[in-house]
Amino acid sequence: MRRDPERGDEPGAPALWARLRPARSVIGASLLALALLAAFGALHPLLAAAAAAFVLAVALWGALARPDAAPATPAERRDDAGGAALRPLDDEAIRAVIAGLPDPVIVLDREARVIAFNPPARAVAPALRLGEHALLALRMPAVVEAVRRALALGEPQRAEFSERVPVDRWYEAHVVPSAPVAGHPRGLVLLTLRDLTPLRRVEEMRADFVANASHELRTPLAALSGFIDTLQGPARDDTKARERFLAIMKEQARRMARLIDDLLSLSRIELNAHIRPEQPVDLAPLLRQVVDGLQALAQERQVEVTVTVTEPSTVPGDRDELIRVFENLVENALKYGASGKRVDIVLARAEGPAGQSEARVSVRDYGPGIAAEHLPRLTERFYRVDVGQSRAEGGTGLGLALVKHILNRHRGRLLIESAPGRGATFTVCLPRVAAPLSD
Ligand code: ADP
Repeated sequence: MRRDPERGDEPGAPALWARLRPARSVIGASLLALALLAAFGALHPLLAAAAAAFVLAVALWGALARPDAAPATPAERRDDAGGAALRPLDDEAIRAVIAGLPDPVIVLDREARVIAFNPPARAVAPALRLGEHALLALRMPAVVEAVRRALALGEPQRAEFSERVPVDRWYEAHVVPSAPVAGHPRGLVLLTLRDLTPLRRVEEMRADFVANASHELRTPLAALSGFIDTLQGPARDDTKARERFLAIMKEQARRMARLIDDLLSLSRIELNAHIRPEQPVDLAPLLRQVVDGLQALAQERQVEVTVTVTEPSTVPGDRDELIRVFENLVENALKYGASGKRVDIVLARAEGPAGQSEARVSVRDYGPGIAAEHLPRLTERFYRVDVGQSRAEGGTGLGLALVKHILNRHRGRLLIESAPGRGATFTVCLPRVAAPLSD
């Protein structure tokens, strides 16, 4: 490192002389005046010598105490603070900086040779090699084109591309040329990629959801307007037909209301998904209340419902939402599993996968059961094994989606076991309230 000999920590004679520079003429004039006064007898030589010594001492003290006037270079300032000297940003340093970035980043020189890239970039473009031409390694035509344009125009470029194998993924590429830097007088080109896949998936899901919801609403709406037309036209004076049509219309209107109700519940639960419900809910009386509420349906379907409590449990939760969960499960068992003539509900205590204490409520029916391929998709919105049957039962296809969302909010889980001809068991697992000391 360069170091000015005149600005050391311990100034030597030449440095001292340099520091005295601003006062040199004053000192010289004072010494000359004292010498003349002594020579002409106006001042005693001893007094003149003492005065000269005093002037020199003051000048020296001032020079030593004065801080260095010349501004230090940035590197020297860093030195004073005890840090390492700044070096030009070399390629190694660039690699170190981008290594920790979460998104894929590739740095190219103006000839499009690879200067640096980070591990996420290698995952997207495994053919990347330091020092080699990037346009060969980047097998994405849209990105290659964007790099070419950035190099030619010296302006930032943006491109989108997708991969089909092994799974669909979408990316956005930004290509930004930099100003000249040390070691790369023509500047560098920074290529960053952003994974748009999660965003796209959410967009697709939202579009699917709106399409499904509209379709579900349109079907009863079409039925309603069809019957209105018939009642205004051909069936105008047919009292018997009118009664029958009005009953159907009422049912269709009820179906629309149920659908809207479920949609609103879903969005409300999603909105509060991050807030964990805290109110203590005693599950045994809650289950009995749900079963009492569904007694009419059970009788209509000639199904016997039993509730067995092997161990009572209180869980932190939202009472209304938990009622909704068990209503949905018991209602499904009564609707789809009625042929089994029995529905058994058991409340027990068990250990969760992480060893935590859980309350488990299983709702078991002895109906036709569900084929394995449907099980993972049952909690998707609007997914039904048999659309016709679900509609005939007044189902919206949103029941189990609601159950899943409510349980997520409660940090719980839903287990589904079933096989064709063997009935179905839906088990709700909920973390229990931390046991009080007396428990
Ligand atoms: P739905 O409003 O159609 O009942 P759900 O989300 O509650 O919607 O259920 C989704 C589908 O899962 C139902 O349409 C039905 O095909 C199937 N299902 C749910 N519970 C049972 C069960 N206990 N036995 C057989 N199939 C069931």
